[in-house]
Amino acid sequence: MEIATIVKCSFIDYPSKIAAVVFTPGCNLRCHFCHNRRIIDGDSVTCGTTQKEAIAWLETRHGLLDAVVISGGEPTLQTGLPEFIEEVRALGYLAKLDTNGTQPAVLAALLETGLLDYVAMDIKAPRDKYDAICGVPVDQSAIDESIALLMGGGIEYEFRTTVVPLLTPDDLLAIGNRIRGAQAYVLQQYRELQPIGRPYDPHGALSPGPPAWLDAVQQRLCPKVEDCSFRGFEVRPERQAKRTETFLKLPPPYGWNAGLAAEHRRTSDDAESC
Ligand code: SF4
Repeated sequence: MEIATIVKCSFIDYPSKIAAVVFTPGCNLRCHFCHNRRIIDGDSVTCGTTQKEAIAWLETRHGLLDAVVISGGEPTLQTGLPEFIEEVRALGYLAKLDTNGTQPAVLAALLETGLLDYVAMDIKAPRDKYDAICGVPVDQSAIDESIALLMGGGIEYEFRTTVVPLLTPDDLLAIGNRIRGAQAYVLQQYRELQPIGRPYDPHGALSPGPPAWLDAVQQRLCPKVEDCSFRGFEVRPERQAKRTETFLKLPPPYGWNAGLAAEHRRTSDDAESC
């Protein structure tokens, strides 16, 4: 399996686990918001680390890591993927696959052989916007097949959508209907691509807050799936200010004094997730 890069320690890529993330080069989609553009143009983008070297390094991480996440690019395009996961599992690590769901035959084979512990699959858009958001035609029957495989596969999984500006509340509800009954659905923060030459600003215009309607949509998605959560969204100041106002109006025994209220305001302003 080709390796584009390795993130040696991540606390966010495998739920509740410490993981290394192995990125594979090449992808069959061209999502306009892709932050991994550097590695999606074919197998030539490798970091020089071979599969053998990666496994040798993982052997030295026992006790420090719980899991290995294989991400990309699109890992299911890699012919050596099953063998790599076999080696990872033989070392005692959990294995998670990040996929765009376009290769159901590969996913089926991995599930059949019991090689995966967790799968995160992107649902990029409702059917009618898939091609526009992914930049290429996407076979919707392949996406349906992958959804069905995960929902019947007997392992932990999540579906996830990056809430790009092109998506509307109705679009997210349509996705919710498509994955009705799923274990988990995650709505992810959209971040604009960094223009060349502009300093990175994680809290500025490059990271727009969630659309005003997102809370209401999440409430409507909750009955459709077992768990619907947010990832990567920053708290909007106006929402936080409203929460503070509500707290201040609470009757005793909650009656906060001015000092506590100011402290609450300060910590609320600092909060980073909803
Ligand atoms: S599927 Fe993922 S890696 Fe491929 S282009 Fe889209 S965002 Fe990038």
